[in-house]
Amino acid sequence: MAAELSHLSPILSSEEEKLLACVHCGLCLEACPTYVATGDENDSPRGRIYLMRAVKEERLAVTSLTFENHIDRCLGCRACESACPAGVEYGQLLEAARAEIARGQTKPTGTYRLMYFVLKHVWSRPKRLRVAFTLARWFRDSGLANILLRTGMASEISSRFEFALALLDGSSAATKTAGKMPANPDTSGQDAGAPGTPVLLFKGCVMEGLFKRVNEATVRVLEVNRCKVQAPEAQVCCGALHAHAGDIEGARALARQNIDAFANNGAPIITNAGGCGAMLASYAHLLEHDAKYAEPAREFSARVRDVGQHLQAIGFRNGESLGFARTTYDASCHLLHGQHAADASLQMLWAIPNLNFALLSGSDVCCGGAGVYNLLEPELSEQVLDEKLRNIEQSGATVLATGNPGCHMQIAAGARLAENPLKVCHPVELLDESYSRAGYYDGKS
Ligand code: SF4
Ligand code: SF4
Repeated sequence: MAAELSHLSPILSSEEEKLLACVHCGLCLEACPTYVATGDENDSPRGRIYLMRAVKEERLAVTSLTFENHIDRCLGCRACESACPAGVEYGQLLEAARAEIARGQTKPTGTYRLMYFVLKHVWSRPKRLRVAFTLARWFRDSGLANILLRTGMASEISSRFEFALALLDGSSAATKTAGKMPANPDTSGQDAGAPGTPVLLFKGCVMEGLFKRVNEATVRVLEVNRCKVQAPEAQVCCGALHAHAGDIEGARALARQNIDAFANNGAPIITNAGGCGAMLASYAHLLEHDAKYAEPAREFSARVRDVGQHLQAIGFRNGESLGFARTTYDASCHLLHGQHAADASLQMLWAIPNLNFALLSGSDVCCGGAGVYNLLEPELSEQVLDEKLRNIEQSGATVLATGNPGCHMQIAAGARLAENPLKVCHPVELLDESYSRAGYYDGKS
């Protein structure tokens, strides 16, 4: 058996040092939402690392359902990394395990087949992706998604379809701007003589496709704080969905394109999506063995900053009060455990005077969104989300800010289906609105 499998685990073998770093202390267990939900050691970080080692040492086949199921059930939230005293880089191990599974699937079936098809033929092709998002926006903005949800027709089709529609509907704007808001800021780089410190915006495919308003708010807020923002035209998806699904080569191809797109100067690369930011910061690891791109990837990753981190680093202006809606904040896992930037993101809310802020219990715990996990593992995702919604209700907040589109849609969808009138937005949207009320945009059109 061992001889038969000896060719099956090269990806995990290359991560042997990281596997051996785990001393099995179990201190990560209580931080793991899937272990807390199921109580099964195999659904814990330590258990999954055991399984990875078993595959690597050829005691378990990479194609075994035990391996596939427990690796699939991992949210990839990386809370275990923050809890681990031994510094185990679990996120990188998980991506290696998923790549190993993808490699072992000679003929993917069902959901896997569909997912690989979409990643390869839509998500890696910018023009097709733009068309897909245009259709999604039309479906959302025409009100059709809302009608299907409201009339119960979506739930009659299936609960998964209903949740998918609620996710899409959850990306709609939740807050109305009251002040003067210059639309469509110019990020083409045409106005090369404009004052300010240069920064480059990473737009993100879901952000630009469904949350363009957040990108526009990010540009306005940066400009108010003396930044000159450009968004390189040739940028593509960050590759996070590919890496999380085990398509490491797809992720590497996108990483190389982004490195080339942002290579024209050494300006900071600003993101406003926790998932994208953590992925961009991991290019150094992703391409460490690439003869041509290893060094540019290191340089690229070192320039990546969440918008909150950048504002904190340069010092930024306070805005005007937004009134007294009770507001809370939920940290995106990748912003918190991947970029270690959740506190910096929260600083954007502290710049809003008299904010009626409520602390959210468990704000450092995953919401269950995790890319497309909510559609692939609906039961476990729902359990994790229910806990989040209970905590939000207890906080008394009617507005929740979070810095990642996946978390945004997951929480908004859950709240909607639970008939909770919660408004979900990005912290930079609130700061933008607060700047508008302070009159910082007066005179701009
Ligand atoms: S990434 Fe999250 S869900 Fe996966 S093992 Fe770590 S804590 Fe658990
Ligand atoms: S805390 Fe770290 S070393 Fe301890 S079991 Fe978890 S991953 Fe292994």
